[in-house]
Amino acid sequence: MVDKVLILGAGYAGMMTASQLERISEPFTLINKNPYHYFTTLLHEAAGGRAEPINYCVPLSDVLRKPSSQIVVDEVVSIDRERRVAMLKSGQERSFDWLVITLGWVPEYFGVPGLGEHSLVLSSLDAAIQIREHIEGQLKAYMDDDDLRHLRIVVGGAGLTGIELLGELLDWIPELCLKYGIDRQLIELQSIEASPTILPQVSESLRQRAVVTLARKGAKLRTNTRIVQVTRGVVHLDDNETVEAGTIIWTGGVRANPILANAGFTVDRRGRAKVNEYLQSVDDDHVFIAGDSSWCDGEDGRAMPPTAQVAAQMGHVLGDNVRSAVHGQPMKPFRAHLMGTLASLGREVGVGNVMGMPVRGMIAGMFKEGSKVKYLWELGGLRLVGDKTHQVINL
Ligand code: FAD
Ligand code: NAD
Repeated sequence: MVDKVLILGAGYAGMMTASQLERISEPFTLINKNPYHYFTTLLHEAAGGRAEPINYCVPLSDVLRKPSSQIVVDEVVSIDRERRVAMLKSGQERSFDWLVITLGWVPEYFGVPGLGEHSLVLSSLDAAIQIREHIEGQLKAYMDDDDLRHLRIVVGGAGLTGIELLGELLDWIPELCLKYGIDRQLIELQSIEASPTILPQVSESLRQRAVVTLARKGAKLRTNTRIVQVTRGVVHLDDNETVEAGTIIWTGGVRANPILANAGFTVDRRGRAKVNEYLQSVDDDHVFIAGDSSWCDGEDGRAMPPTAQVAAQMGHVLGDNVRSAVHGQPMKPFRAHLMGTLASLGREVGVGNVMGMPVRGMIAGMFKEGSKVKYLWELGGLRLVGDKTHQVINL
């Protein structure tokens, strides 16, 4: 059997493509590793124990409800472009007429030895749960052997992911200390960043605000410090110093899912596959690629950043373009509307800019909460907002 429209991956880009196709009554088959869509933008909350993991995902079948929308839970292993087939882990092969690839990102390790083997990465809901359980496990281990290494947490990379995770962990730690009867002063949270500053995405004044907020909560922020190797429980730095830590988390960057490069698409140095303004692969006009797996130049000629904001907007346009392509109608070019950047610094406060305006403190925290609701609205309308809001924004 041949799938007329086959979508690979149910992240921000894939879900938005699928829900738009459903809205405009175009049948499709969606293949995803899990039977649910998780909110990657909130994974730091799941890792930091803000709410139960179930609050950070929604079953695919709750969003895609038409009988013509086929959902297959399986893992894509590779794509054979010649034969127009996606190969799945179960051994199944899916042939397609039109393919949408929205397989997201994997961690970028920059060839640093041992990073992949000895660090945790906030890459999925399962990974967030693993981080959360690992940290609790380390506290329990400390109660057995009094080894202070269990109480040291290193977060490698202080971009948006690293800083949001750090803020979340800092707010969780006092709760954990109470639970296990451990002195808060014994727990050390280190952020290690290679460049001269944390959070290069925000202005200098907001960055300073972030530094003060995180330091006040108890973080040790190290900049101009590069991780050059990781061995079991030990982070090796460029000045020959070593840091022993029970928990090592890598948030040092992302690259596209390697399935695209392996399938022979034209990719950039981060493995992202080149698309034209309609989000069609430059190598094959029956293949569309969106989100973190795509290399799409913006109006300034630079590649669009790998963000959920861009991925979801691409998905929306892609739904329309796929339908147009299937029916031989003209497609519309993708133009991103960037609303700004918001970084949470824990459960209530944040920094960022919204439509060019700097925001900080609880106002930034409120904008961040608002952006979660906006996404749910765009994905599933009032029903999804109603189902999920009370959980996701913890009201
Ligand atoms: P993803 O959302 O990663 O989705 C890919 C999907 O494909 C997943 O469902 C995955 O399970 C599935 N998949 C992967 N491989 C396979 C396979 N082989 N077979 C089947 N299925 C597969 N961006 C923002 O704009 N704002 C934010 O506030 C923000 N916060 C973030 C916070 C954190 C902690 C992190 C890690 C990222 C954040 N980002 C944010 C970035 C944003 O999450 C990504 O840019 C976004 O998830 C990319 O969307 P995507 O659809 O391309 O990929
Ligand atoms: P990133 O590439 O933005 O940041 C990684 C950081 O790790 C950089 O500051 C880099 O200098 C540092 N680093 C790299 N190698 C290092 C080393 N060897 N030692 C120490 N530090 C090292 O990656 P990210 O933060 O995971 O973000 C990925 C994408 O997701 C970005 O596009 C980002 O905008 C997006 N994102 C957005 C939000 C948000 O909008 N709130 C949150 C998270 C992620």
